[in-house]
Amino acid sequence: MESVGSGGFYVETLGCPKNQVDSDKLVGTLLADGMFPVDDAADAELVVVNTCAFIEEARRESIDTILALSESRRPGARLVVTGCMAERYGSELAEELPEVDAVLGFGAPIAPQRTRIPVASVDLPNLDLLNLPRPASAAPWAYVKIAEGCNRSCGFCAIPSFRGPQRSRDVESILTEVSETGAREIVLVAQDLASFGTDRPSELGAGSIVPLVREVGQLVDRVRLLYLYPSDLDDALIDTVCDSGVPYFDLSLQHVSKPLLRAMRRWGDGQRFLDRIASIREREPDAAFRSNFIVGYPGETEDDHDQLLQFVEEAQLDWCGFFAYSREEGTHAASLDGVVDPELMSERLAELRALQDDITAERRDLLIGAEVEVLVDAEGEGRSFREAPEIDGVVRLPVDLAVGEIVTVEIIDAEGPDLVAAGAGEG
Ligand code: SF4
Repeated sequence: MESVGSGGFYVETLGCPKNQVDSDKLVGTLLADGMFPVDDAADAELVVVNTCAFIEEARRESIDTILALSESRRPGARLVVTGCMAERYGSELAEELPEVDAVLGFGAPIAPQRTRIPVASVDLPNLDLLNLPRPASAAPWAYVKIAEGCNRSCGFCAIPSFRGPQRSRDVESILTEVSETGAREIVLVAQDLASFGTDRPSELGAGSIVPLVREVGQLVDRVRLLYLYPSDLDDALIDTVCDSGVPYFDLSLQHVSKPLLRAMRRWGDGQRFLDRIASIREREPDAAFRSNFIVGYPGETEDDHDQLLQFVEEAQLDWCGFFAYSREEGTHAASLDGVVDPELMSERLAELRALQDDITAERRDLLIGAEVEVLVDAEGEGRSFREAPEIDGVVRLPVDLAVGEIVTVEIIDAEGPDLVAAGAGEG
């Protein structure tokens, strides 16, 4: 993004880890332009909001954040909106928010009808953020985005409509970025991670995620994968994840009822998912699992809900996220009948979350007395292979352990999602 001066900038990032990577790269371009980061938006000459547009709740948060920062910015400071809301709504957003100086897409191929509306006179260039350099990571871990966009068409999801078709990066540029971060743990992210390379059959091809994980594993201590579509979880990928020392499986399942999954235009069913999880546990009994589920998709019946409750009970996953279905304009589901009553949706959500909270706590309790290897993320806090950054629990540690160290600690207690190591808080 062309800098407007040599003053301070402030970037507010909303949404998912993929957005965080985009913000890191954006920061890289502003630093290269001679600007410097400030902690308070009121001190900035340039305020940027990297928005999320995945569901209604996220859009509301984005708008609230834009308006709040517009209020708090200093006179003459520029307010720029980017990210998924900018890509999805472009000119509409610019017209609805006169406070904003520019609404900019993130270099993703923008459908012709969408134009950038730079309210100010400067027409800013279109950047291919995917391959831009990034500054070193402030934390001992970092997200690295290996592809942009998605070629699937899940019934509830609008992402392909504004992030475009899948575009996998060159392996070289990914490995360069991994080194640039200086991190000890790399978390590989994309909309559809395991499909990496399928959009470039002659240069990469299906299954390219496997050699990529191995190559990244040569450069850092830990490689973690997020957003695995279940049908792509083949034996080669399972073996690679288990051999990486981070047997952590983030399976994007969304539901388990076969008819409902078909209505979602997704693969699989509860029994196949259970079989896959069981075969992984045979291979690696200590493997950790996370998944996400949508509740209240149009047509969801009481029987579908019961199937999901039973699955959660049987699968005994370490971590689960449950999300209320959000009707998204332009998606397949938006025109489906059988809309679920919001109150019933909340009841089902509460039931699932309560069940999973108990399962997570029980699985944490099983680790009391164990020795676990942790990466020290911050003073008094770290994570073993079982916890992904920012979305799972943490391990509480003695405060004298150096940030960035990988150490073995004894677990003496568990508090909900968090584990407590001997000497935690002391030091
Ligand atoms: S895999 Fe499905 S849910 Fe994920 S980004 Fe693609 S279309 Fe959306």
